[in-house]
Amino acid sequence: MGLVVQKYGGSSVADAEGIKRVAKRIVEAKKNGNQVVVVVSAMGDTTDELIDLAEQVSPMPAGREFDMLLTAGERISMALLAMAIKNLGHEAQSFTGSQAGVITDSVHNKARIIDVTPGRIRTALDEGNIAIVAGFQGVSQDKKDITTLGRGGSDTTAVALAAALDAEVCEIYTDVDGVFTADPRVVKKARKIDWISFEDMLELAASGSKVLLHRCVEYARRYNIPIHVRSSFSGLQGTWVSSEPIEQGDKQVEQAIISGVAHDTSEAKITVVGVPDKPGEAASIFRTIADAEINIDMVVQNVSAAATGLTDISFTLPKAEGRKAIDALEKNRSGIGFDSLRYDDQIGKISLVGAGMKTNPGVTADFFTALSDAGVNIELISTSEIRISVVTRKDDVTEAVRAVHTAFGLDSESDEAVVYGGTGR
Ligand code: ADP
Ligand code: ASP
Ligand code: MG
Repeated sequence: MGLVVQKYGGSSVADAEGIKRVAKRIVEAKKNGNQVVVVVSAMGDTTDELIDLAEQVSPMPAGREFDMLLTAGERISMALLAMAIKNLGHEAQSFTGSQAGVITDSVHNKARIIDVTPGRIRTALDEGNIAIVAGFQGVSQDKKDITTLGRGGSDTTAVALAAALDAEVCEIYTDVDGVFTADPRVVKKARKIDWISFEDMLELAASGSKVLLHRCVEYARRYNIPIHVRSSFSGLQGTWVSSEPIEQGDKQVEQAIISGVAHDTSEAKITVVGVPDKPGEAASIFRTIADAEINIDMVVQNVSAAATGLTDISFTLPKAEGRKAIDALEKNRSGIGFDSLRYDDQIGKISLVGAGMKTNPGVTADFFTALSDAGVNIELISTSEIRISVVTRKDDVTEAVRAVHTAFGLDSESDEAVVYGGTGR
């Protein structure tokens, strides 16, 4: 008997009908002879609604209480799903993250999983139950407080449980048919990818393709858990994310030169103006940011003006951390020594990802040509071995993604990509 972990995102369980539809699918997997563990997200946009509610009560809610509030969303869906399965005549039990043994560090709102001890899940399975686990949450090892794993964190719960239970596969059910060459909400001619390597998927996820969370792919690569991303609305094969290419018929799926185009409008840019051009300055700016537990993305330092010996340093970070970063830098202004800070949240990032970039000269040139032909101005550039990213004005992002997608021959000739549900929020 195989063990499968299935994760259903919020759009798949948006209402009672959705929950009943998903319940049928889960029962099918059980009837096929598998032990089934299900990780479920909060219904529809529940998490966003809870966040809005918290903001109306307090502009900066305490992390502990915020997490306690947000985890309520997944508690609702897990209980309803277990009820729907029982109604179909099968045994199911729901578990919170804490009950399922998801142990995290104590960084509220973006905790990391440090251990998974799924004893109760094993027992439930051995007794013939389908186990339903609330995604996106855990319990901190030291304080025993309830934590959340950051937005989209149910993906990580699913892969972590799959690793701990030695599952054959982790299926991620969502509102599109798999991982596409670009977000199907932006590029109608995006193409479904049959197989993608962990490396390329990691870069796409880190660059804003929210179909899979970056940490979840990191986890899957570390424990070599194959992920199958597919739609809960259709019966189609989705995208396999794994270390080795899959077979299709009697052929192996080839590694594409370019896997896809990702975009991200969730970041902001901070420019530290008038920084003395001497050793230690960048270190003290980024130490300040790190001490505030903020992750940054791109960094660029301008050439210093010869007359003044001053320079500007810009970096990007999640918009949600903008206020905290500005406050931390302001507090340290005399220690660091700078003139002023500029904050810009009207930026967007476009990234081209593909392992073939390493060996195909001209990819960078073609990328910049496509952006220039589309009249898009570039503000920051960063690259890795298999990715090129640029920051542009937010209003240019859609145009830029489409232009790059077309320029690299990624547009599909046939079907338009289907988006089955969700609000894209
Ligand atoms: P869920 O609620 O199931 O977790 P998400 O909204 O987190 O779903 O992720 C699915 C969404 O990811 C899709 O609806 C799509 O708009 C978006 N997306 C972004 N980039 C891609 C991509 N390259 N391939 C597929 N979907 C993508
Ligand atoms: N409900 C959480 C969120 O909306 C976690 C998840 O869906 O993965 O971010
Ligand atoms: Mg998601």
